[in-house]
Amino acid sequence: MSSVVPGEAIAVEEEALPQQGVYVDQRGFLRSYVVGVAQLDRYKKVAQVKPVVKREFSLKPGCVAEGVVTGVGEDYALVKLYSNSKGERVNAIGILHISQISSEYISDILDYIRPSDIVRAKVLNSSPPYLLSTKDPSTGVILAYCSSCGKELYLTTGGVLVCINCGRREKRKTAVGYLLISR
Ligand SMILES: [Zn+2]
Repeated sequence: MSSVVPGEAIAVEEEALPQQGVYVDQRGFLRSYVVGVAQLDRYKKVAQVKPVVKREFSLKPGCVAEGVVTGVGEDYALVKLYSNSKGERVNAIGILHISQISSEYISDILDYIRPSDIVRAKVLNSSPPYLLSTKDPSTGVILAYCSSCGKELYLTTGGVLVCINCGRREKRKTAVGYLLISR
């Protein structure tokens, strides 16, 4: 395996068949047409270049990201982050530890966050897995779904979330800016 630039020769026609990212020139050289990592398999006689994927630099300590909760353990929640505060798409895993959810004492994490909640969270470190915090009032759950029927929950003036479909009432650590407000 080696890094190559477009036009760089990887092999000759007799050695391998061109696959992804590779073309054959008029003189019989296999060349890369992308910036990437060349792989020449002399056993299978194939050559390919895997393009270099640009690294995500869009999550930094202190920035705010949005994601969906994919799992909740006894003392943490896993969040699949999909955008940063600028609205740019990211694709990263975040971990929200129970000590970073709220400044309140938490006896049951499910009163604060549940799977499939949409959260806005502050990023605490600079590389994956990202450690998250929702202590700030501007961060927390921005959209939650009813654990009974799956419909969206509406935030009431008392801070409780209510399902207008089945009437179930639930609690979360909601962010200022929760998306659905009950009138
Ligand atoms: Zn419901």
